[in-house]
Amino acid sequence: ARQFTRPLHDLANQYNQLLSAVAGAERVYQILDEDKEEIDELKAERIEHLNGNVEFQNVSFSYGREENTIKNISFSVKTGQTVALVGPTGAGKSTIINLLMRLYEPHEGAIYIDGINIQKITRESLRSFYGFVLQEVFLFEDTIRENIRFGQLDASDEEVEAAAKKANAHSFIMKLPNGYDTKLTEDGAGISQGQKQLISIARAILRNPTILILDEATSNIDTVTEIQIQEALQCLMKNRTTFVIAHRLNTIQNADQILVIHDGEIIERGNHESLLKKNGIYSNMYKQKEGTNVV
Ligand code: ATP
Repeated sequence: ARQFTRPLHDLANQYNQLLSAVAGAERVYQILDEDKEEIDELKAERIEHLNGNVEFQNVSFSYGREENTIKNISFSVKTGQTVALVGPTGAGKSTIINLLMRLYEPHEGAIYIDGINIQKITRESLRSFYGFVLQEVFLFEDTIRENIRFGQLDASDEEVEAAAKKANAHSFIMKLPNGYDTKLTEDGAGISQGQKQLISIARAILRNPTILILDEATSNIDTVTEIQIQEALQCLMKNRTTFVIAHRLNTIQNADQILVIHDGEIIERGNHESLLKKNGIYSNMYKQKEGTNVV
């Protein structure tokens, strides 16, 4: 069964990455969702404003007919809080995010934002509340300015620069031969992995989402850029609900809530201190990784 679903999984992941990266480009979502859209979007409404209180109530889901990928997941997050999803590969962290975005629907239970079942919110309006910073930064062949403006297409040049400053990207951009007019290639030749992250953060700051999805980079980035990234992320995460698929100990330690996911279940939850006191799985994991930066 695993072999059978592999191509689908890969395809879905590619889609997810693309969709996530181009959050805001609703046209792409529509292509993926066309069939589903017709059926249940009739019952859904456009929502203009959300505060970002998220609640999962007994959510179960499976991609196929096999055992549930997500089993009876319940948690709630208040506006402005950060939730770190932690756990081994395949545990179900991305699936939780996919459900939150309505890329898939729960088979049991429901997801609420500000008390509204998200199935009652059109996908298009729902996704307008999300912003993303992902490991793989999506760049396109255009200037740095346009690559940042992608976060909010009607932003002025001043707004683009202000976002870049908050994201700690301004100074490296100004050192490039053509500053904000420097042309990028799709693979970001000429700029580092860390600098790509800063561009992605600038884009998200410009987008100003209610709910931020952060898929942290696992690779080690040079210390100076890493500090800049952490600082920029703190600015970005401030006052918005953040879901982070977390790999950086620093991020996890600062999270309001850590959900330790294993085999589709929440096996431990709490903040860093309370989980350390428990002396359970999280605390073991932490002790093993102490001294390193990445989980
Ligand atoms: P990672 O840290 O590697 O990203 P994860 O915790 O995010 O892992 P998920 O990507 O949510 O885990 O995957 C949970 C399980 O669901 C895995 O067994 C995975 O193979 C499976 N899975 C994920 N996406 C699909 C899909 N589109 N179709 C079928 N199975 C899938």
